[in-house]
Amino acid sequence: MSCTCGRWCVNGFPCSHAVQCILRYTTQTVYDYIDPAFITECYRNAYSHPVVPIPDVEKPNEVDESNKVVAPTVVKGPGRQKKKRYIPRSEKPRKKRMCGHCRKLTFHNKITCPDPPGEAPITAGRRYQLN
Ligand SMILES: [Zn+2]
Ligand SMILES: [Zn+2]
Repeated sequence: MSCTCGRWCVNGFPCSHAVQCILRYTTQTVYDYIDPAFITECYRNAYSHPVVPIPDVEKPNEVDESNKVVAPTVVKGPGRQKKKRYIPRSEKPRKKRMCGHCRKLTFHNKITCPDPPGEAPITAGRRYQLN
């Protein structure tokens, strides 16, 4: 059963409209229409079993050492070993460079320069003219 106000469906308790209908048209008590989750017996049943703690970083489950994955053995190569870590291109900070066309410190070069060809400003640092 339900009511168009929706409170009964959401709360699990019959709303005032439903209570009025139950009392007027049925011989049952209002308690028969309450969701079983709210009954003391259900609450006691939920906590009658022991609650097992969930393992986390501070208190992990006991680990079976025989199934543990071991890191591969590293064999040192010949010669002097590298002291600096290889930094991938994605981690390297971008460096501004002098554009060969507009002569500014930018992230583009003379091929990808947004300035139209031949109309670039001639600055003191420009060594040669195009054409
Ligand atoms: Zn209602
Ligand atoms: Zn440029």
